[in-house]
Amino acid sequence: MIPLVDLKAQYRSIKTEIDEAVQIVIDEAAFYKGRHVREFERKFASMFGSRHCVGVANCTDALYIALKCLDCSSGDEVITAANTFIATAEAITATGAKVVFCDVDPETFNIDIAKIRNLITLHTKAIVPVHLCGRAVDMTAIGEIASEFKLKVVEDCAQAHWAEWRGKKVGSIGEIGCFSFYPSKNLGAFGDAGCIITDDEQLAETVRMTADHGRTKKYEHIFEGISSRLDGLQAAILNVKLNYLDEWTVKRQANARLYEKHLEGVEGVKQPEIPDEREFKTHVFHVFQVMVDPRRRAKIREKMSSDGIETGMHYPIALPNQLAYKYLGHSPADFPVASWLQDRIMSLPMYPELTEEQIRYISDCLKKAVK
Ligand SMILES: *Cc1c(COP(=O)(O)O)cnc(C)c1O
Repeated sequence: MIPLVDLKAQYRSIKTEIDEAVQIVIDEAAFYKGRHVREFERKFASMFGSRHCVGVANCTDALYIALKCLDCSSGDEVITAANTFIATAEAITATGAKVVFCDVDPETFNIDIAKIRNLITLHTKAIVPVHLCGRAVDMTAIGEIASEFKLKVVEDCAQAHWAEWRGKKVGSIGEIGCFSFYPSKNLGAFGDAGCIITDDEQLAETVRMTADHGRTKKYEHIFEGISSRLDGLQAAILNVKLNYLDEWTVKRQANARLYEKHLEGVEGVKQPEIPDEREFKTHVFHVFQVMVDPRRRAKIREKMSSDGIETGMHYPIALPNQLAYKYLGHSPADFPVASWLQDRIMSLPMYPELTEEQIRYISDCLKKAVK
């Protein structure tokens, strides 16, 4: 079976280093707030250029804490993409703010910049661009809108570690960048983990306290926060993996190029728009999605599965069309692109260890399946 993501292959490639790192944490009982967490925060921040990094329990918490620390609360509105994982929207709602969905662009699958302005009201407080599938949102355009309307920008980088927009890594462009280290993400821990990066020292301090019960010192709390910790074991694992992320990212990009080559001209398969050489760093291919005939997608996926290939869909029900958001009173026609995409998208296996032979096999099976 070729899985969507092969976590075992990655572990095998760095097993000795990982096992050693884990053993050290256990020997030291450095489970929380130890040197491994500090080392990770320092290393991760330095890769974005002297920014602050605060480790937290997962990216859903990171987004919630970020918005909360930027004063989002009831009465406010926060704009995000209609096509994202529900965590983005949950984090907005958890602050008390109202989530306002924006339709997406059919080529990039990301928030449609041209449609954002129409959604801005006197209550709009922030925008959460989601770099979906690993593709950077046009942060220049987001920045222009944000400064014109005095909005905060929290980047959801859960799928986009190391993606760049005009020479800057995503996450370091808005006020705050939020990352997930869920095992299958481009940089994955062995459980849940996440972090926040920001350039603003004051904000970093508030974020750190919010993630730690509003604590200043051991028994003193100046406000109520939550309990959201990056633990030592996860940090130690991430410290090892961080050394490989450049290499893994390049391999993902090379694999996308191989898919592009092997799927070229295949009738019935629309490829995602793949940025050209100059803009190539804008996409780190967390997911490689193609589009197929909506009436045949289930059959195609079944066929692929019987050929030993796992496929996925990111995501088959756009958020405004989910029952969870029925209360917003939308209809699929309000989000024509997201609603169109949800029925057509199909994700193919994508991970650094994927070989050209496997990519050729997957492409051949897809060709046969769409016939
Ligand atoms: C995975 C993901 C999240 C949530 O991350 P967790 O660490 O699982 O909480 C948020 N946004 C997007 C786009 C994601 O893919």
